[in-house]
Amino acid sequence: MQEMKDVLKTLGIKDVNPGVCTGTKWIDTTGDKITSYSPADGTAIADIKQATLEDYRKVIDTAKDAFKVWKKVPAPKRGEIVRQIGLELRKYKEPLGRLVSYEMGKIYQEGLGEVQEMIDICDFAVGQSRQLYGFTMHSERSEHRMYDQYHPLGIVGVVSAFNFPVAVWSWNAMIALVAGDVIVWKPSSKVLLCAVAVHNIVADVLKRNDIPEGVLNLVATSSKYLGDDMFSDKNIPLISFTGSTRVGKKVGRLVGERLGKSILELGGNNAVIVTPTSSQDMALRAIVFGAVGTTGQRCTSTRRIILHESIYEEFKNKLINVYKGLKIGNPLDEKNHVGPLIDKGASDTYFKAIDKVKAEGGKILFGGEVYKDPNCESGCYVVPCIAEVENHYEIVQEETFAPLLYLIKYSTLDEAIELHNAVPQGLSSAMFSTNLLETERFLSHEGSDCGIANINIGTSGAEIGGAFGGEKDTGGGRESGSDAWKAYMRRQTNTINYGSELPLAQGIEFNV
Ligand code: NAD
Repeated sequence: MQEMKDVLKTLGIKDVNPGVCTGTKWIDTTGDKITSYSPADGTAIADIKQATLEDYRKVIDTAKDAFKVWKKVPAPKRGEIVRQIGLELRKYKEPLGRLVSYEMGKIYQEGLGEVQEMIDICDFAVGQSRQLYGFTMHSERSEHRMYDQYHPLGIVGVVSAFNFPVAVWSWNAMIALVAGDVIVWKPSSKVLLCAVAVHNIVADVLKRNDIPEGVLNLVATSSKYLGDDMFSDKNIPLISFTGSTRVGKKVGRLVGERLGKSILELGGNNAVIVTPTSSQDMALRAIVFGAVGTTGQRCTSTRRIILHESIYEEFKNKLINVYKGLKIGNPLDEKNHVGPLIDKGASDTYFKAIDKVKAEGGKILFGGEVYKDPNCESGCYVVPCIAEVENHYEIVQEETFAPLLYLIKYSTLDEAIELHNAVPQGLSSAMFSTNLLETERFLSHEGSDCGIANINIGTSGAEIGGAFGGEKDTGGGRESGSDAWKAYMRRQTNTINYGSELPLAQGIEFNV
């Protein structure tokens, strides 16, 4: 296994890294340095010189020029570039997965899984590059033909959350690339080195293929420099924002004010209904992975379990037992199940939420304190918590981005579904049951109100083949698989008259 200093070298990370890239060119900036610290051990990994507003504007100009060229490249040839990016990512899966783990704090297996997701979406996008299809329709007018088609959109602004430092970019950028768009990525200022590493990896592919500067761009900076400028920028027809509901609402407003398009991928408050007919072993494994995976920092993390009263005590005890066996510690040590939270601020938020649970009448059944170990002194390690609550508590209605799992009791299926949907968010949901009537009801229009609804698998760990996203406060956006590519293109309806008459639609007579 490589030492971290060798991993950084392999990925081209220097002590100080420029925060602006237009493809193969790294641009030095006058912005302040920002240091990236590992939540695993508190080490300062490296510095990034942040992009300023002036840098951002230059990048946009370069991207505008690049779009004029890139949109003319046939889609399957654009797919070929994505295919090569996928091959390059395969080569760097191990070191990039390690950096994701070290800079963000998720366990190494999940770091590898995140890079695998990038590879999978590349493969998907290559196939998609030959399937950017529209429909044909029969015209009401004789000797007329109608069809719709999809054209490239322009610059796609990708703003990503800290918890998926590399995959979110790929979900958006690889689909946008085959669609003929150019991309400007503003990653989370908490995980900038991962973004620098990704751009180093793709730079080789761009260089080899003489791709013009400005097709894939990076603007690594904080809101100190960029503020709302990117969201309000009319040069960017589509902003794909992944992050909290709080910031997402602002993004929706600012993009909406200029009548731009946005894909909003915001917070979740995901629940699993466990019914008496379920396999409790399967439900347990899925719930524990969903609740403590990525230390409870996935948008799809399992936050609420809605448990039938007849199995409540039994399941609760089994769950507490599994939690007792969880190994917490350095995310790069493969024996550990749970790594650190992203930073001390996240630990504070976690402890405040637990205080609020108690104040509202909830009962802490397990954990919820600082994890004490001489090797875990970064201030970011916590013991995952299980709490007995009622669904209507204010704190239960919020997304606490940490491993805080709520147990809620139900007696009838109607009640379970009502409790399930009675939160502002609508991202991911699951039911464990072997009763066909229950499962079909959960997936019907009377069931889960979420963008993702699963049976006998957990709420987290979506595959890239499906469209990903959620309803209500989750923002309504869809990205990744299925027909999500359509959001990255502009749709055009075409009508062609191949006759010698000029009939008007709806039979209107207009003779001049
Ligand atoms: P965040 O909202 O704090 O930040 C998201 C992005 O917005 C980051 O790049 C950040 O730098 C930027 N940002 C924040 N404030 C800004 C401002 N005032 N102006 C401009 N940019 C700003 O979210 P986070 O803490 O990075 O991520 C966690 C959140 O993201 C959780 O709510 C989680 O559920 C959500 N998330 C959603 C999905 C999804 O697909 N639905 C996926 C991952 C994470």
